[in-house]
Amino acid sequence: MRYEGIVYRPPSEARSLILQLTIGCARNECTFCNMYKDKKFRIRNLDEVVEDMIMAKKYYMFDIERVFLADGDALIVKTRDLLYIIDKIHEILPTVNRITAYGAPKDVLAKTPEELETLQKAGLDMVYMGAESGSDKVLKAVKKNATQAEIIAAGQKLKAAGLKSSITLISGLGGIENLEEHAVESAKVISAIKPEYASLLTLLIEPGTPLHEQWKAGEFHPLEGPDAIFKEMTLFLQNIDSEGTVFRANHASNYIPLAGTFNKDIPMLLAQIDQAVKNRTFRPDTFRQL
Ligand code: SF4
Repeated sequence: MRYEGIVYRPPSEARSLILQLTIGCARNECTFCNMYKDKKFRIRNLDEVVEDMIMAKKYYMFDIERVFLADGDALIVKTRDLLYIIDKIHEILPTVNRITAYGAPKDVLAKTPEELETLQKAGLDMVYMGAESGSDKVLKAVKKNATQAEIIAAGQKLKAAGLKSSITLISGLGGIENLEEHAVESAKVISAIKPEYASLLTLLIEPGTPLHEQWKAGEFHPLEGPDAIFKEMTLFLQNIDSEGTVFRANHASNYIPLAGTFNKDIPMLLAQIDQAVKNRTFRPDTFRQL
């Protein structure tokens, strides 16, 4: 396989074939993100993507069952071309039974309900949408290029088209000043979409990002340590109403691994947080990573 630059994928795509349909992120402005800073965005030549499938078929020693379309936002690709690639995946890799991709809220909204339904029927199963926050104040501060209303509308549009969604949020993204707002508004987004999956990462300020510069200049005040992060997370969980959503906060950036299903497991998740805070059983900062 040939890959351009560092390739990122959601943790749950660890066993998937990663196919780079685009290179980099079309927006690449979020102040906390350094994933695609070294890549100039472009949509790849579709023939090259098909060649990658043929190579994978040749070299993989096992049947490929899952494909994740990378890089940052494959949904920006025209529906006609996405359908072509999905058809080719089924033709060349007939054992594939799940195809997923990242999708930015604006690119989901740019597609008509009919286009999304056609993609779902063709075999696109799930879209990973990085909401990061539900607070317009925080979204604006981190230059996410999406509002709460857009994120909710995009999530609901995916659901109406029969597409599953996985929404990611980042604990601590609003800093100390926005702890409450970030928690409550983020819960509002999840409760309004009721996605199949929701996950929480914990903010790590990456060197080389604008957020790192803001922090060094004293313009961003992070939540210091696990107590503040868990105060925010507790507030988030207390405001959730999203029956059936599978929740994960078990990423390497999190202080403790949490997993459960909303709403039934919220009391259990809150109890686990309380216990960790009481017993001081956290993943040390040196082991936390993105
Ligand atoms: S967080 Fe997502 S949208 Fe923002 S710059 Fe990174 S890859 Fe692009």
